[in-house]
Amino acid sequence: MKSKTDNGSARFVSVGAVIVCAGKGERTGLAYNKILHRIGRKTVLEAVLDTFSSPFIDKTVVVSSARDRSAIEEIAALYKNVTVCEGGSTRAQSVGNGLCALGMCDIAVIHDGARPFVTQDIIKESIDSAVKYGSGIAAVPATDTIKRVGGDGTAHSLPRAELYNIQTPQTFVYSQIKHAYDCLPDNAAVTDDSEVFELAGFAPRLVRGSYDNIKITTAADLFGLPKKLRIGVGFDVHRLVPQRALVLGGVKIEYDRGLLGHSDADVLVHAIMDALLSAAGLPDIGVLFPDTDDRYLGISSMSLLTEVVSKVTDNYGIQSVSAVVTAQQPKLSPHIPLIRKSLSDALGIETDKINVSATTTEKLGIIGSGDAIAADASCILTEIDR
Ligand code: MG
Repeated sequence: MKSKTDNGSARFVSVGAVIVCAGKGERTGLAYNKILHRIGRKTVLEAVLDTFSSPFIDKTVVVSSARDRSAIEEIAALYKNVTVCEGGSTRAQSVGNGLCALGMCDIAVIHDGARPFVTQDIIKESIDSAVKYGSGIAAVPATDTIKRVGGDGTAHSLPRAELYNIQTPQTFVYSQIKHAYDCLPDNAAVTDDSEVFELAGFAPRLVRGSYDNIKITTAADLFGLPKKLRIGVGFDVHRLVPQRALVLGGVKIEYDRGLLGHSDADVLVHAIMDALLSAAGLPDIGVLFPDTDDRYLGISSMSLLTEVVSKVTDNYGIQSVSAVVTAQQPKLSPHIPLIRKSLSDALGIETDKINVSATTTEKLGIIGSGDAIAADASCILTEIDR
């Protein structure tokens, strides 16, 4: 990368990165290393390497345990200038091995493989600080009160304004951090790279990290905190009668009968609206859009859905919607792609987060005799952080 020296002239600085992935990740309760866990379509390690694939990083070494080496090499092969080396029995030995494998460069960025929410801005800020001051350690002000506990069990207060939670990336002048690790005794109990740097007589300097830049440690970190998820269910049924249009999910379906109701009686949209409202802890559609109110006479349920989505998304993100329509006739499968597309537009989420299936009742009951259609829906919402 190009950088400015103190006198303002530009010069090229070579930057290498060491991604430490040699841990076992036992606290997550997974049978495999947490950096190989998939969040969406990508593994934790791919999320990290995506962010490190930036114009200001020239080469990257991923430090792996012997156990995970082949899986990590497979991922590394997807990226340019990424190689893999084996770690040691402690984190410090693993970082030492990573720095050796990296080879000579001006600046070394050291990062935990289990921090996938790091941003290019944080990395860049740590590099800039290392170019200017010799080091740049990502950190955030401590939000918990932290006490020092003495041997007698009594707690002593520490001034919180002076305390920071230390994260990675931790970025250094390569020759200095390499020297610091070379001098570190084998049995030294250090918890991070800036401590190693400090023990060698250097003064680490902090840069702004982020509270989102968490290190995945427990299963809750990987799978999200349950309190942030809200699940909703909805159900509706309408009678099928002649001389009415059949509308499902906002799509008009050719049929000799349609659903009877105050609105257009789109039974699928009604079930979905009730699922969303239930998850958000709001009153149901019978309360919001009463069938005694002439404003809703013959109205398209899609316009009601738009109103419901607007209410719900004040406080929640819609993650997924899943629904099943129960009808003996007509055959609905040819219409499902169009219905998903129509719902996607109204819900403001991708079609792959919306599923609609269709079933019959094997000719049992009022639905089986072709006199009604029912729909069930469920959804997942996530609370919006403020
Ligand atoms: Mg209804």
